[in-house]
Amino acid sequence: MSDCVFCKIVSGEFTSSKVYEDDSILAFMDIQPVNEGHILIIPKKHVELIADLDNETSAKMFVIAGKINKALRKSDLKLEGINYFLADGETAGQEVFHTHLHIYPRFVGDGFGMVYNENYRKVLPKRAELDLIAEKVRILL
Ligand SMILES: [Zn+2]
Repeated sequence: MSDCVFCKIVSGEFTSSKVYEDDSILAFMDIQPVNEGHILIIPKKHVELIADLDNETSAKMFVIAGKINKALRKSDLKLEGINYFLADGETAGQEVFHTHLHIYPRFVGDGFGMVYNENYRKVLPKRAELDLIAEKVRILL
């Protein structure tokens, strides 16, 4: 895609601080990091949603994430935990419409967090409701 910032990083039109690269995957430093060590992992081909990415490349993204996770833990970066974050669609928080997996260090007091609605953990679904939803998804696998 000609107007996609990540495609321009893949082509070299835009510079990046590369962490990993092979024939189908690129990982580079996020220029707006949550914390030091914030890395983005992308497929080289332009695919908006990970739901539309082939299974092989999708799986490879997570294999590379695992390697980066281990490397971050060996580094001297401030790190007590690691988040993987992938927003699949605009409503889910996706801002660049070329699928990407964030991986970033976390530590106590870093100020980052998730926001839950007011009913979270107060109103729990009944087992029958969970079974019904599980069946809706299971039959489509
Ligand atoms: Zn792209």
